[in-house]
Amino acid sequence: MSDAKIIDGKAFAAKLRTDITAEVSKLKSEHGVTPGLAVILVGEDPASQVYVRNKGKQTLECGMNSYEHKLPAETSEADLLALIAKLNADENVHGILCQLPVPKHINEQAILAAIDPAKDVDGFHVVNAGALATGGEGFAPCTPYGCLMLLKDTLGDLSGKRAVVVGRSNIVGKPMAQLLLKESCTVTIAHSRTRDLPEEVRRADIVVAAVGRPNMIKGDWIAPGATVIDVGINRVEGAEGKMKLVGDVEFETASKVAGAITPVPGGVGPMTIACLLNNTLISACRANGLEVPNLGFDS
Ligand code: NAP
Repeated sequence: MSDAKIIDGKAFAAKLRTDITAEVSKLKSEHGVTPGLAVILVGEDPASQVYVRNKGKQTLECGMNSYEHKLPAETSEADLLALIAKLNADENVHGILCQLPVPKHINEQAILAAIDPAKDVDGFHVVNAGALATGGEGFAPCTPYGCLMLLKDTLGDLSGKRAVVVGRSNIVGKPMAQLLLKESCTVTIAHSRTRDLPEEVRRADIVVAAVGRPNMIKGDWIAPGATVIDVGINRVEGAEGKMKLVGDVEFETASKVAGAITPVPGGVGPMTIACLLNNTLISACRANGLEVPNLGFDS
C-alpha cells in the first residue's frame, strides 16, 4: 500500500500533447505555419533508434512535420556539420536535434555549438544554457522542464521551498537546479562528492533524483510529505530474470514517506518528448512573430 500521491506523468504528457496538437492546428489554419522538427541520428545505437522512432511518431501525431536524417556511423564531422548548416537555413525546420551520443570520432560539443540556438529545442547550446542561467529567452532542456511542470502541477507555488537536486549533468541536474532557482526555491545540488547525501536529501521539500543508480535513494532519506521526482531510468533484472525499469529512488520505501512521487516508468519519462514538441511549437511561434502559448502550466 502506498501513501504518497502518485504523480502520473504519462497522463500529464498525453494532455500536454493534446494541447500542443490544438495549437498546431490553429497555427496551420490561421497562419499557414506547420512546425517542423528535424532529428539527426548518426549510427545504429539500438536505444537511440527507439528514441528517434518515438520522437518522429509523436511529432507527426501532433500535426507537425518530422524530418528524420539517419546517417551511417562512419559519417564525418564535416558532413554532419554541413547537414546542420542546411537545417539551420531551412525555414520549414523550427527545431533541430542531434541524438546523443554521437560516434566517438565526432566532437559532441562542436555539434551542439553548430545548431542555431533559436532552433536548439533540446536546450543544450551554451547560449540556451546561459539564457536559462541569466533569465533570458531561450529553450530549457526538455527533461528538467517536464519535471518542473509536474512539480508545479503537484505543489502550485514553489517559492521558498527547499529543493535538493541529486546529479549535476548538463542535461538534467544543472538545468533542473536553474529552473527551481527561477521559481525561488532554495536549491542544493548534490553529486558523487557530496558528504552525507542522506542528510542533504532529508532536508528537502522537493527531491529531484537524476543519478543513474538503481534504487539509490531510500525511503528513510526522504522527509515525510516531501515531493519526489525520479528522473532515473535504470534497467535491472527482475523476477525470473526478466529485465525491468527502476528509478534512482527506492519506490517501495520512498512512497510510504513522501507526499507525492513519480513512478518509473510512467513518471518523468513521457514528459521529455512532450516538452520537445512544446519547444518546437514555441520555436515556430517565435520564428513567425506570433504569441507563444504557455502550455504545461495552469496560469
Ligand atoms: P549523468 O550524466 O551520468 O550524471 C549523473 C550524476 O549523478 C552526476 O552528476 C554524478 O555526480 C551523480 N552521481 C553519480 N553517483 C552518485 C552518487 N553515488 N551519489 C550522488 N551523486 C551521484 O546522468 P544524467 O544524464 O543526468 O541522467 C541521470 C539519470 O536520468 C539516468 O538514469 C538517465 O537514464 C536518466 N534520464 C532520464 C531521462 C528521461 O526521463 N527522459 C532523460 C535524461 C536522463 P558527479 O558529477 O560527481 O560524477
